[in-house]
Amino acid sequence: MTDVLRENRRSPVLTPSSLPCLQRLPTINVTRGCSFGCVYCYIQGYPNYPGDDKIVVYQNTADFVKRELKRKRTKPSHIYFSSSSDAFQSCAEVLDVSFETMRIILANGVKLSFLTKGVVGDRFIQLFEKYPGQVCAQVGITSLNDEILTALEPKAASVAARIASAKRLIDAGVQTTARIDPLIPNLTDTTESFSRLLSELHRIGVRSAAASFLFLRPAFARKTIDAIATLLPNFDTNRWQRQQFKNDCGGGIMLDAAERERRFDRFRMLGKEHGIAIRVCGCKNPDHTSGECGIAGPPPANRKSHGGFQMPLFPDRS
Ligand code: SF4
Repeated sequence: MTDVLRENRRSPVLTPSSLPCLQRLPTINVTRGCSFGCVYCYIQGYPNYPGDDKIVVYQNTADFVKRELKRKRTKPSHIYFSSSSDAFQSCAEVLDVSFETMRIILANGVKLSFLTKGVVGDRFIQLFEKYPGQVCAQVGITSLNDEILTALEPKAASVAARIASAKRLIDAGVQTTARIDPLIPNLTDTTESFSRLLSELHRIGVRSAAASFLFLRPAFARKTIDAIATLLPNFDTNRWQRQQFKNDCGGGIMLDAAERERRFDRFRMLGKEHGIAIRVCGCKNPDHTSGECGIAGPPPANRKSHGGFQMPLFPDRS
């Protein structure tokens, strides 16, 4: 059970994230904490993290956004959900706040993008259908194996529910990509596992995916390693190396650069075989690429990415 607490916001909502790939965009979190409880999630290290199995819902988010959009002389071109939570947590209050906030954003002519490991329900799909070209979705999924996802992302949606959500979004005309992150070396990044996932994603209409590897932050590395060890008893991080993210935005230990390079090359090759362009995040892998993962929508066509793939763009982002 997740404890749901309520709070009213007092400070502005539409502020940029500190994450390098989101620095140009206002981001919104409708909760503090996240009920999905992913064992690797970096928000566990935040000073205001409410604790496991507890979330704080910002119940006046929609009102704040409405007021802020009205006051702004220049509206943002688009807004990102959610840099440190998930807008589609399976909790009625979270979904209500997310829905009303998204409705106001779209009605103001502002585009929105989101990343989710949850279920995007009927009313959201119906809302997005009313605003063609204004919504961009990323569905987070690293494997088709429910046992693996349950161990690592205990309260997020099942494999079938995430795939069904992605398909419904695509069918509704929402530009939808996959986020295959964080991959666990020798567990979810094997050729067999990665190929099965790509094949299923392609079947439902996904044509682009961002991939990245797990990194471990010291504060909760033990918890993450223990969860992985239940699936992969010989999981070993002894030769992992310290990796600093772009712009000094944190970091942790992860596979060394040469090993990542080798594996990313294999992913790109598998992506080509399955008709899915693989993007690699340059924020997490500055020693490997300056490419973008498209977390908040596809990067502009004139920006080069290591993967060399370009998707159709939001009209005003070219
Ligand atoms: S869904 Fe995202 S924000 Fe929520 S716990 Fe998982 S990684 Fe963290």
